[in-house]
Amino acid sequence: MKLKEIYSSNSPVISFEIFPPKADAQNYNDKINALFGELKILSKYNPAFISVTYGAGGSTRDKTLELVIKIKNELKLQPTPHFTCVGASKTEILEYIKEVENAGIENILALRGDPPKGQDYFVKPKDGFGYANELVEFIKANTNLGIAVAGYPEVHPEAESAKDDLINLKRKVDAGADIVITQVFFDNSYYFEFVEKAQKAGINVPIVPGILPITNIAQIERMVAMSGTKIPENLTNSLKKFENYPDAVKKLGIEFAIIQSKELLKNDVPGIHFYPLNKSFATDSVLKELNINSVLEN
Ligand code: FAD
Repeated sequence: MKLKEIYSSNSPVISFEIFPPKADAQNYNDKINALFGELKILSKYNPAFISVTYGAGGSTRDKTLELVIKIKNELKLQPTPHFTCVGASKTEILEYIKEVENAGIENILALRGDPPKGQDYFVKPKDGFGYANELVEFIKANTNLGIAVAGYPEVHPEAESAKDDLINLKRKVDAGADIVITQVFFDNSYYFEFVEKAQKAGINVPIVPGILPITNIAQIERMVAMSGTKIPENLTNSLKKFENYPDAVKKLGIEFAIIQSKELLKNDVPGIHFYPLNKSFATDSVLKELNINSVLEN
Protein backbone atom coordinates (compact mmCIF):
# COMPACT_ATOMS: atom_id res chain seq x y z
CA MET A 1 0.00 0.00 0.00
CA LYS A 2 1.27 3.49 -0.83
CA LEU A 3 2.08 5.87 2.04
CA LYS A 4 -0.67 8.28 1.04
CA GLU A 5 -3.27 5.55 1.44
CA ILE A 6 -1.72 4.17 4.64
CA TYR A 7 -2.00 7.54 6.37
CA SER A 8 -5.52 8.25 5.11
CA SER A 9 -6.78 5.84 7.79
CA ASN A 10 -8.21 7.31 10.99
CA SER A 11 -6.21 4.92 13.18
CA PRO A 12 -2.69 5.81 14.23
CA VAL A 13 -0.18 4.08 11.98
CA ILE A 14 2.56 2.04 13.65
CA SER A 15 5.86 1.58 11.83
CA PHE A 16 9.40 0.53 12.77
CA GLU A 17 12.89 1.41 11.60
CA ILE A 18 15.64 -1.18 11.45
CA PHE A 19 19.22 -1.11 10.20
CA PRO A 20 20.98 -3.84 8.20
CA PRO A 21 23.73 -5.65 10.11
CA LYS A 22 27.23 -4.73 8.85
CA ALA A 23 27.58 -6.35 5.44
CA ASP A 24 31.06 -7.68 6.14
CA ALA A 25 30.16 -9.13 9.56
CA GLN A 26 31.34 -12.74 9.68
CA ASN A 27 28.09 -13.86 11.25
CA TYR A 28 25.91 -11.77 8.91
CA ASN A 29 23.38 -14.57 8.38
CA ASP A 30 23.04 -15.22 12.12
CA LYS A 31 22.45 -11.51 12.64
CA ILE A 32 19.75 -11.49 9.96
CA ASN A 33 18.06 -14.50 11.58
CA ALA A 34 18.16 -12.77 14.96
CA LEU A 35 16.75 -9.58 13.44
CA PHE A 36 13.91 -11.52 11.79
CA GLY A 37 13.12 -13.09 15.18
CA GLU A 38 12.79 -9.58 16.66
CA LEU A 39 10.63 -8.39 13.75
CA LYS A 40 8.34 -11.41 14.14
CA ILE A 41 7.70 -10.33 17.74
CA LEU A 42 6.89 -6.77 16.65
CA SER A 43 4.74 -7.90 13.72
CA LYS A 44 1.84 -8.56 16.14
CA TYR A 45 1.29 -4.79 16.17
CA ASN A 46 0.49 -4.87 12.45
CA PRO A 47 3.12 -2.35 11.40
CA ALA A 48 2.17 -0.56 8.20
CA PHE A 49 5.79 -0.68 7.10
CA ILE A 50 9.31 -1.47 8.23
CA SER A 51 11.80 1.16 7.15
CA VAL A 52 15.35 -0.03 6.48
CA THR A 53 18.23 2.42 6.83
CA TYR A 54 20.74 2.96 4.09
CA GLY A 55 24.52 3.15 4.26
CA ALA A 56 26.29 4.74 1.33
CA GLY A 57 28.07 2.76 -1.35
CA GLY A 58 29.11 -0.76 -2.20
CA SER A 59 28.09 -3.87 -0.35
CA THR A 60 26.11 -2.10 2.40
CA ARG A 61 23.93 -0.57 -0.28
CA ASP A 62 23.29 -3.91 -1.94
CA LYS A 63 22.56 -5.49 1.43
CA THR A 64 19.83 -2.90 2.15
CA LEU A 65 17.94 -3.93 -0.96
CA GLU A 66 18.55 -7.64 -0.35
CA LEU A 67 17.20 -7.26 3.20
CA VAL A 68 14.19 -5.25 2.04
CA ILE A 69 13.22 -7.97 -0.44
CA LYS A 70 13.70 -10.68 2.22
CA ILE A 71 11.39 -8.80 4.63
CA LYS A 72 8.74 -8.56 1.93
CA ASN A 73 8.99 -12.18 0.83
CA GLU A 74 9.61 -14.01 4.09
CA LEU A 75 7.89 -11.90 6.75
CA LYS A 76 5.15 -10.58 4.44
CA LEU A 77 5.69 -7.13 5.94
CA GLN A 78 5.91 -4.01 3.83
CA PRO A 79 9.47 -2.68 3.72
CA THR A 80 10.37 0.94 2.98
CA PRO A 81 14.01 1.31 2.02
CA HIS A 82 15.81 4.53 2.90
CA PHE A 83 17.98 5.99 0.15
CA THR A 84 20.56 8.80 0.26
CA CYS A 85 22.22 10.97 -2.39
CA VAL A 86 25.69 10.18 -0.97
CA GLY A 87 28.18 9.11 -3.64
CA ALA A 88 25.54 8.45 -6.29
CA SER A 89 25.16 9.81 -9.82
CA LYS A 90 21.73 10.28 -11.40
CA THR A 91 22.32 7.18 -13.53
CA GLU A 92 23.04 5.06 -10.47
CA ILE A 93 20.07 6.51 -8.61
CA LEU A 94 17.78 5.76 -11.52
CA GLU A 95 19.05 2.18 -11.65
CA TYR A 96 18.51 1.75 -7.91
CA ILE A 97 15.00 3.21 -7.69
CA LYS A 98 13.90 1.18 -10.71
CA GLU A 99 15.27 -1.93 -9.03
CA VAL A 100 13.29 -1.05 -5.89
CA GLU A 101 10.10 -0.54 -7.87
CA ASN A 102 10.59 -3.68 -9.96
CA ALA A 103 10.97 -5.68 -6.74
CA GLY A 104 7.39 -4.72 -5.89
CA ILE A 105 8.36 -2.23 -3.19
CA GLU A 106 5.82 0.59 -2.95
CA ASN A 107 7.50 3.32 -0.91
CA ILE A 108 10.92 4.84 -0.29
CA LEU A 109 12.41 7.28 2.27
CA ALA A 110 14.37 9.89 0.31
CA LEU A 111 17.32 11.56 2.06
CA ARG A 112 20.32 13.66 1.24
CA GLY A 113 22.44 11.78 3.78
CA ASP A 114 25.23 12.90 6.07
CA PRO A 115 28.67 13.94 4.76
CA PRO A 116 30.80 10.80 4.38
CA LYS A 117 33.37 10.11 7.15
CA GLY A 118 36.28 12.55 6.99
CA GLN A 119 34.23 15.30 5.27
CA ASP A 120 32.99 18.30 7.24
CA TYR A 121 30.18 19.14 4.90
CA PHE A 122 28.14 17.48 2.20
CA VAL A 123 29.64 17.72 -1.28
CA LYS A 124 27.22 17.21 -4.15
CA PRO A 125 28.34 14.06 -6.01
CA LYS A 126 29.34 14.45 -9.66
CA ASP A 127 26.15 14.35 -11.70
CA GLY A 128 24.19 13.74 -8.48
CA PHE A 129 22.06 15.73 -6.05
CA GLY A 130 22.95 18.25 -3.34
CA TYR A 131 19.66 18.21 -1.40
CA ALA A 132 16.88 15.76 -0.69
CA ASN A 133 14.26 17.87 -2.49
CA GLU A 134 16.13 17.21 -5.77
CA LEU A 135 16.06 13.47 -5.06
CA VAL A 136 12.33 13.58 -4.29
CA GLU A 137 11.67 15.37 -7.58
CA PHE A 138 13.73 12.77 -9.46
CA ILE A 139 12.00 9.79 -7.82
CA LYS A 140 8.61 11.35 -8.50
CA ALA A 141 9.49 11.93 -12.17
CA ASN A 142 10.82 8.42 -12.74
CA THR A 143 8.73 6.06 -10.58
CA ASN A 144 5.35 5.64 -8.94
CA LEU A 145 6.89 5.07 -5.51
CA GLY A 146 5.31 6.68 -2.45
CA ILE A 147 7.86 9.03 -0.86
CA ALA A 148 8.72 9.80 2.77
CA VAL A 149 11.23 12.47 3.81
CA ALA A 150 13.00 13.44 7.04
CA GLY A 151 11.95 16.33 9.29
CA TYR A 152 13.71 17.88 12.29
CA PRO A 153 11.60 19.20 15.20
CA GLU A 154 14.82 20.48 16.82
CA VAL A 155 16.14 21.83 13.48
CA HIS A 156 18.70 20.11 11.23
CA PRO A 157 22.21 20.82 12.61
CA GLU A 158 23.39 22.40 9.32
CA ALA A 159 20.37 24.68 8.84
CA GLU A 160 20.92 28.43 8.99
CA SER A 161 17.74 28.83 11.07
CA ALA A 162 14.54 27.01 12.03
CA LYS A 163 12.71 29.12 9.45
CA ASP A 164 15.13 28.13 6.67
CA ASP A 165 14.86 24.48 7.66
CA LEU A 166 11.09 24.67 7.37
CA ILE A 167 11.34 26.32 3.95
CA ASN A 168 13.60 23.46 2.91
CA LEU A 169 11.16 20.88 4.30
CA LYS A 170 8.43 22.50 2.24
CA ARG A 171 10.62 22.14 -0.86
CA LYS A 172 10.63 18.37 -0.27
CA VAL A 173 6.87 18.24 0.18
CA ASP A 174 6.26 20.43 -2.86
CA ALA A 175 8.54 18.13 -4.85
CA GLY A 176 6.24 15.19 -4.03
CA ALA A 177 6.83 13.81 -0.54
CA ASP A 178 3.75 12.07 0.88
CA ILE A 179 4.78 12.07 4.54
CA VAL A 180 7.47 13.45 6.83
CA ILE A 181 9.09 11.20 9.44
CA THR A 182 10.81 13.09 12.23
CA GLN A 183 14.18 12.75 13.81
CA VAL A 184 13.96 11.22 17.28
CA PHE A 185 13.00 13.68 20.04
CA PHE A 186 12.42 13.31 23.77
CA ASP A 187 10.46 16.46 24.43
CA ASN A 188 7.06 16.46 22.76
CA SER A 189 6.81 20.25 22.87
CA TYR A 190 9.40 20.44 20.04
CA TYR A 191 7.22 18.18 17.91
CA PHE A 192 3.96 20.03 18.62
CA GLU A 193 5.56 23.39 17.84
CA PHE A 194 7.18 22.00 14.68
CA VAL A 195 3.88 20.61 13.38
CA GLU A 196 2.10 23.90 14.09
CA LYS A 197 4.74 25.93 12.25
CA ALA A 198 4.87 23.44 9.37
CA GLN A 199 1.11 23.63 8.91
CA LYS A 200 1.23 27.43 8.98
CA ALA A 201 3.95 27.22 6.30
CA GLY A 202 1.58 25.18 4.10
CA ILE A 203 3.01 21.72 4.78
CA ASN A 204 -0.12 19.63 4.76
CA VAL A 205 1.17 16.06 4.72
CA PRO A 206 1.27 13.80 7.82
CA ILE A 207 4.26 14.52 10.09
CA VAL A 208 4.99 11.26 11.85
CA PRO A 209 6.82 11.46 15.19
CA GLY A 210 9.90 9.28 15.67
CA ILE A 211 10.14 7.66 19.12
CA LEU A 212 13.11 5.81 20.52
CA PRO A 213 12.77 3.93 23.81
CA ILE A 214 16.16 4.42 25.48
CA THR A 215 17.81 1.17 26.54
CA ASN A 216 21.47 2.12 26.77
CA ILE A 217 23.13 5.33 27.94
CA ALA A 218 26.28 5.17 25.76
CA GLN A 219 24.19 4.58 22.64
CA ILE A 220 21.93 7.53 23.36
CA GLU A 221 24.88 9.82 24.09
CA ARG A 222 26.36 9.00 20.66
CA MET A 223 23.06 9.67 18.96
CA VAL A 224 22.47 12.94 20.77
CA ALA A 225 25.97 14.15 19.88
CA MET A 226 25.37 13.42 16.19
CA SER A 227 21.85 14.77 15.80
CA GLY A 228 21.70 17.65 18.30
CA THR A 229 18.58 16.10 19.92
CA LYS A 230 18.12 17.37 23.48
CA ILE A 231 17.25 15.18 26.43
CA PRO A 232 15.03 16.83 29.07
CA GLU A 233 16.82 17.57 32.33
CA ASN A 234 14.65 15.27 34.45
CA LEU A 235 15.40 12.35 32.12
CA THR A 236 19.14 13.14 32.05
CA ASN A 237 19.23 13.26 35.86
CA SER A 238 17.40 9.96 36.21
CA LEU A 239 19.63 8.30 33.60
CA LYS A 240 22.73 9.51 35.46
CA LYS A 241 21.36 8.13 38.70
CA PHE A 242 21.00 4.66 37.16
CA GLU A 243 24.24 4.81 35.16
CA ASN A 244 25.55 1.58 36.68
CA TYR A 245 22.25 -0.29 36.57
CA PRO A 246 21.51 -1.30 32.95
CA ASP A 247 18.16 -2.90 33.81
CA ALA A 248 16.99 0.25 35.58
CA VAL A 249 18.01 2.32 32.52
CA LYS A 250 15.88 0.08 30.29
CA LYS A 251 12.90 0.34 32.65
CA LEU A 252 13.25 4.11 32.77
CA GLY A 253 13.61 4.37 28.97
CA ILE A 254 10.49 2.28 28.45
CA GLU A 255 8.45 4.25 30.99
CA PHE A 256 9.54 7.52 29.42
CA ALA A 257 8.63 6.33 25.91
CA ILE A 258 5.20 5.18 27.15
CA ILE A 259 4.44 8.61 28.64
CA GLN A 260 5.71 10.34 25.48
CA SER A 261 3.72 8.09 23.15
CA LYS A 262 0.51 8.38 25.17
CA GLU A 263 0.69 12.17 25.02
CA LEU A 264 1.31 12.08 21.27
CA LEU A 265 -1.60 9.72 20.65
CA LYS A 266 -3.96 11.86 22.74
CA ASN A 267 -3.03 14.72 20.44
CA ASP A 268 -4.11 12.82 17.32
CA VAL A 269 -0.75 12.19 15.70
CA PRO A 270 -0.91 10.35 12.36
CA GLY A 271 1.02 7.45 13.89
CA ILE A 272 4.32 6.67 15.59
CA HIS A 273 7.51 5.56 13.87
CA PHE A 274 9.47 3.58 16.44
CA TYR A 275 13.24 3.16 16.46
CA PRO A 276 13.69 -0.24 18.15
CA LEU A 277 17.42 -0.40 17.22
CA ASN A 278 16.92 -3.97 15.94
CA LYS A 279 15.68 -5.29 19.30
CA SER A 280 12.01 -5.85 20.07
CA PHE A 281 11.98 -5.84 23.88
CA ALA A 282 11.66 -2.13 24.66
CA THR A 283 9.33 -1.23 21.78
CA ASP A 284 7.18 -4.27 22.51
CA SER A 285 6.94 -3.18 26.17
CA VAL A 286 5.89 0.33 25.09
CA LEU A 287 3.31 -0.83 22.56
CA LYS A 288 1.74 -3.28 25.02
CA GLU A 289 0.88 -0.28 27.20
CA LEU A 290 -0.52 1.91 24.46
CA ASN A 291 -3.60 -0.06 23.57
CA ILE A 292 -3.80 1.93 20.37
CA ASN A 293 -7.41 1.07 19.55
CA SER A 294 -8.74 2.21 22.92
CA VAL A 295 -6.87 5.49 22.59
CA LEU A 296 -8.69 5.95 19.32
CA GLU A 297 -12.09 5.21 20.83
CA ASN A 298 -11.68 7.84 23.55
P1 FAD B 1 17.97 17.78 3.30
O1 FAD B 1 16.50 17.83 3.41
O2 FAD B 1 18.57 17.90 1.96
O3 FAD B 1 18.55 18.86 4.30
C1 FAD B 1 19.93 18.95 4.60
C2 FAD B 1 20.27 20.37 5.05
O4 FAD B 1 20.26 21.24 3.94
C3 FAD B 1 19.29 20.97 6.05
O5 FAD B 1 20.02 21.79 6.93
C4 FAD B 1 18.33 21.79 5.19
O6 FAD B 1 17.76 22.88 5.91
C5 FAD B 1 19.25 22.25 4.06
N1 FAD B 1 18.56 22.27 2.75
C6 FAD B 1 17.69 21.37 2.27
N2 FAD B 1 17.31 21.67 1.02
C7 FAD B 1 17.95 22.79 0.68
C8 FAD B 1 17.99 23.60 -0.50
N3 FAD B 1 17.27 23.26 -1.60
N4 FAD B 1 18.78 24.71 -0.49
C9 FAD B 1 19.52 25.05 0.60
N5 FAD B 1 19.52 24.32 1.76
C10 FAD B 1 18.76 23.21 1.79
N6 FAD B 1 21.07 8.97 7.07
C11 FAD B 1 21.61 7.92 6.39
O7 FAD B 1 22.78 7.99 5.99
N7 FAD B 1 20.90 6.78 6.14
C12 FAD B 1 19.62 6.64 6.56
O8 FAD B 1 19.01 5.60 6.33
C13 FAD B 1 19.00 7.72 7.28
N8 FAD B 1 17.72 7.65 7.68
C14 FAD B 1 17.14 8.72 8.31
C15 FAD B 1 15.78 8.64 8.67
C16 FAD B 1 15.14 9.71 9.32
C17 FAD B 1 13.67 9.61 9.68
C18 FAD B 1 15.89 10.89 9.63
C19 FAD B 1 15.23 12.03 10.36
C20 FAD B 1 17.24 10.98 9.26
C21 FAD B 1 17.86 9.91 8.60
N9 FAD B 1 19.21 9.96 8.18
C22 FAD B 1 19.78 8.89 7.51
C23 FAD B 1 20.04 11.15 8.49
C24 FAD B 1 20.02 12.18 7.33
O9 FAD B 1 20.65 11.61 6.21
C25 FAD B 1 20.79 13.41 7.80
O10 FAD B 1 20.08 14.08 8.81
C26 FAD B 1 21.24 14.36 6.68
O11 FAD B 1 22.22 15.25 7.24
C27 FAD B 1 20.15 15.22 6.08
O12 FAD B 1 19.34 14.50 5.24
P2 FAD B 1 17.96 15.18 4.70
O13 FAD B 1 17.35 14.24 3.74
O14 FAD B 1 17.15 15.64 5.84
O15 FAD B 1 18.59 16.43 3.93
